[in-house]
Amino acid sequence: MTEKPADAAPDVEPLDFIREIVKDDLAAGRRQTVVTRFPPEPNGYLHIGHAKSICLNFGVAREFGGHCNLRFDDTNPTKEEQEYIDSIQEDVRWLGFDWGTNLFHASDYFETLYEWALVLIDAGKAYVDDLTADQIREHRGTLTEPGRNSPFRGRGVAENRDLFQRMRAGEFPDGSRVLRAKIDMAAGNINLRDPVMYRILHASHPMTGEAWKIYPSYDYAHGQSDAIEGITHSICTLEFEDHRPLYDWFVENLPVPSRPRQYEFARLNLTYTVLSKRFLLRLVNEKRVRGWDDPRMPTISGIRRRGFPPEAMRQFAEMIGVARRESVVDYAALEYCVRQVLNRTAQRRMAVLRPLKVVITNYPEGQVEQFDVDNNPEVKDGSAGTRQVPFSRTLWIEREDFMEDPPKKFYRLSPGREVRLRAAYFITCQEVVKDAGGQVTELRCTYDPASRGGSAPDGRSPKATLHWVSAAHAVEGEVRLYGHLFVRPDPGAERDLLEDMNPESEEVLRGCRLEPALDGLESGTRVQFERLGYFSADTDGAPGRPVFNRIVTLRDTWARVQAKGK
Ligand code: ATP
Ligand code: MG
Repeated sequence: MTEKPADAAPDVEPLDFIREIVKDDLAAGRRQTVVTRFPPEPNGYLHIGHAKSICLNFGVAREFGGHCNLRFDDTNPTKEEQEYIDSIQEDVRWLGFDWGTNLFHASDYFETLYEWALVLIDAGKAYVDDLTADQIREHRGTLTEPGRNSPFRGRGVAENRDLFQRMRAGEFPDGSRVLRAKIDMAAGNINLRDPVMYRILHASHPMTGEAWKIYPSYDYAHGQSDAIEGITHSICTLEFEDHRPLYDWFVENLPVPSRPRQYEFARLNLTYTVLSKRFLLRLVNEKRVRGWDDPRMPTISGIRRRGFPPEAMRQFAEMIGVARRESVVDYAALEYCVRQVLNRTAQRRMAVLRPLKVVITNYPEGQVEQFDVDNNPEVKDGSAGTRQVPFSRTLWIEREDFMEDPPKKFYRLSPGREVRLRAAYFITCQEVVKDAGGQVTELRCTYDPASRGGSAPDGRSPKATLHWVSAAHAVEGEVRLYGHLFVRPDPGAERDLLEDMNPESEEVLRGCRLEPALDGLESGTRVQFERLGYFSADTDGAPGRPVFNRIVTLRDTWARVQAKGK
C-alpha cells in the first residue's frame, strides 16, 4: 500500500446524484425527513434489477434516518397474483430490508383516487371518452404530429360525473369507455395528450375482490399514492422521465396532502442476462427453466436458490452505484462480489465431481486416519475451526487431475509423478489400470508416510495439491453446474431472445463423491469445494443424498492457460 500525504482528502466515497439531492434537500430545509418507496407491480417475481432499486430506496431511507415503504402497485388485476405478492415480500426481506409497518397497496387508495377523479371532472379537467382503444390511439398523433380532440372531449361536467359514476357501478362492458385527463392534445410530450386515468375492467382483484369495475392507470395512481404516503423522493428508472410532467400535473391539480417529487436513474443492465419480468414469465410458462427460482434465473428467488449471499447483492449495488447514464454492467462484477463474500464466509470442503479411483498400494488395508483440516484458512484468527476428514487406502480424485500423457504446464498427477493430497500425504502414480475400451479406471499409487500432513522432512514440495475423498467414507451426491442462461453478452440483440439461450446452461453430475461433512447440510448452506468453486445445498437434497448447486467457480488457472493456448 502506498502512503498518503497527511493533507490528503479523507477516503470518503462521493455520494451518487440521488443521495446528493436528498442531502441538499435536508440541509436546505426543503425536506424535514426522507420517505422513499419501492413500488413493484405484483405481476411476476423480482429480478436483480429490482434488487438495485430496493437497495437504493431502502438504503437512502436508512442512511438519512427516514423510512421506505413497500407499496404494491396493484392497478392491473388481470396480471397480478397473490403468489407474486408473497414472493416480493420474501425477496425484499431476504435482501436485508424491512418495511416495518409501512406496507401499502395502491388499491388501499382506490376510494380516494376515485374521489379525486371527481374533483378533476368537476374542475373540467377530466372527461369520459367513448372512443375505442384503437380510436384513442389514432387520435393521439405522433412525435411529429399533434393529436386530435376526441368528439367526447366537450362533454359537460354533469354528464361526465354521471357516466363516471355508472362506470364504477359496473353498468358498462370492458373497454367501452375510459376517463381521461383533459390536458392538451397538441402537447409535445405525448404523455400529456389527455392520458387515460381509468378503464373499465370487470375483474377480481387480489385485495379488493369484486368491489371495483374500474381501475386507475399507473400514471394516475402512482403520484397520488406517493402524495398520500408522504413520499419525499419518488425514485424510479429513466423510462418514467417523460411521465414526470404528468406526475406533476396530477399532483398540482389535486388536493393532495403532500408534494412528492420524482427522480429518475438508469436501470441496471447486465451482460448475458435479461432483466424483464415479462420475458422471465415467458421462460417459466414455456418451461425453458425449472421455475421462477431456477438457479439460472436472474430472479432474486433464483439467485437465492443458486446460493448467492444477500450481502453480495448489496455490495454489488453499492459497487455499481447510481447514475443517470445508461450502461451495461459485466456479469463478472456480480460474481466478483459473490466470491468476495464467500471467500470470507464459506467453509472449505472436499468433493470429487468426476471420480477416478486411486488405490494406495503401500497403505495398510483397513486403516483409517482422521486429518484435521481447516474450515476456512482465510479466517486468520482460527475461529472457523477445523473438521476431521477420514483417509484410507482407496480414495477418489478428480478425473481431470490425471493425465496419462501430460502436456507441458500440466503439473497434476501422471505416471511416475508425485503430488500432494491436500492435508494428507504425497502420493506417486505407479500404475494405470484401464478397461477393455482403454478408459482409465484406476490408478495404483504409493504414498510417502513421512509426508503426513502435507509436508516432507526433506523439504521437497510437489507442484500440485489435489483434493480427494476416502472411498469408504464418501457420500454420493448430485451436483448441478450452472453457466449463463444466454450465449451472448447482449441477448436478443440480433435475433429472438429464445434463440440466444444457452443449451448448456445446466449440467447435472450424478455419482459425485463428497466428504462426510457435506451430508445432511441445511438447504442454503454455502461451502467452498476446494479447487472447484462455491456451492450451496439445494432444497432437492435430503440426508444421505445431498444435492448441490454451483454458485460460482473459483478462478481456474489451468482454464486460463488452456484458453491462452487456443
Ligand atoms: P420489468 O420491466 O422487469 O417488468 P418493471 O419496471 O415493470 O420491471 P416494476 O414492478 O414496475 O417492474 O418495478 C418496480 C421498481 O423497480 C420500479 O421503480 C422500477 O423502476 C424498478 N426497476 C425495474 N427494473 C429495474 C432495473 N433493471 N434496474 C433498476 N430498477 C429497476
Ligand atoms: Mg412496470
